[in-house]
Amino acid sequence: MLADRVKKIKPSATLAIDSKAKAMKASGIDVISFGVGEPDFDTPEYIKEAAVKAMKDGFTKYTAVGGIDSLKDAIREKLQRDNNLTYAREEIIVSCGAKHSLYNIAQALYGPGDEVIIPSPYWVSYPDQVLLNDATPVFVKTFEDDSFLIRPEALAAAITKKTKALILNSPSNPTGMLYDRASLEKIAELAVKHNFYVVSDEIYEKLVYDGAEHISVASFNSEIKARSIVVNGLSKSYAMTGWRIGYAAGPSDVIKAMTNIQSQSTSNPNSIAQKASVAALTGPQDFMSAMHAEFDARRKFLVGQLNTIEGMTCRMPAGAFYAFPNTSGIYGRKFGDRIIANSNDLALYLLEEANVALVHGAAFGDDNYIRLSYATSLDGIQRGVERIRETLGNLKDGR
Ligand code: PMP
Ligand code: GLU
Repeated sequence: MLADRVKKIKPSATLAIDSKAKAMKASGIDVISFGVGEPDFDTPEYIKEAAVKAMKDGFTKYTAVGGIDSLKDAIREKLQRDNNLTYAREEIIVSCGAKHSLYNIAQALYGPGDEVIIPSPYWVSYPDQVLLNDATPVFVKTFEDDSFLIRPEALAAAITKKTKALILNSPSNPTGMLYDRASLEKIAELAVKHNFYVVSDEIYEKLVYDGAEHISVASFNSEIKARSIVVNGLSKSYAMTGWRIGYAAGPSDVIKAMTNIQSQSTSNPNSIAQKASVAALTGPQDFMSAMHAEFDARRKFLVGQLNTIEGMTCRMPAGAFYAFPNTSGIYGRKFGDRIIANSNDLALYLLEEANVALVHGAAFGDDNYIRLSYATSLDGIQRGVERIRETLGNLKDGR
């Protein structure tokens, strides 16, 4: 008999669609994948070389649970340089991916009776991590017309005495939205006034476009910093998804609790990947601008194309590498006897009939949308869009 908590959660939809697409590819089907959010670039050579050196030097044993000092220091320098945030070593933890840091936070902070506010649409793992720790996710809907920014009055209305934290993700997966300074200041004011934590997932900070600025909410003043836990990682910025290195910075009591939890669960993150991450953070950063330029070109092309497909409209995302078109105009149409009634039907139809993988918006809390990751080549994007256009063209009005 499984524990009750398992019944409350589902598998990560993004990872589930990725395995389905991979299985189809393995069976010889030419699948074009807009599914998982994973840079298609290779990890830069200087980072790989640091890993090889670590292995050859015998750096292959357990390390300190919360990460080696040289990596903590590289993270501290990064936070100072990029985010104007000063942290001591005991305010940093290195985990097995940002997802693991977020999970450690959930275990350290959320419990029965606690409410955690999650702006919706949200990244798939936030609600389930709250549920796994017997707390209650409280969703606050955001709207396309507001660029998916949370309305301060809606946030204020969701706050109760039980509010433990707010999970912010800017730039956002799945909407690509980016918070501006004024909006973040209002959120910070509410967090300080009502004394709840802000968990700020900044994993896409390096992927902002059109000269926009990523701002860390923790950087405003010491009061909000004392209530913020900044989460980041190497997966997206350095094309290092498989290395599993992420980190969190925050008040030392929270970081200590997270480290204790980690000591009883995974122990340290991989020693070799930690050395590689020191090289990544302290080495040449120029490859990032090439990756950024490529993502930007794909963003403009994909969004431009999606807007020419009948029934779809798509806002230009300000950050990350996702397009989030509104597909509600398609719902109700038919393919033979098959009705496309929602985002799940649409994603399945496109996977089966067009061999195009993407994620249904319902997985992110909004059925009116689908998510396409543009972490795939321009050529793949072009072919994928044509398949989508053609396959949707086969639908008939169902009403
Ligand atoms: N946060 C967000 C918003 C993400 O999209 C991801 C993607 N995997 C993560 C956290 C976790 O990244 P990782 O565990 O690979 O560091
Ligand atoms: N964050 C990525 C995505 O949303 C990777 C998969 C995951 O970790 O959920 O597709």
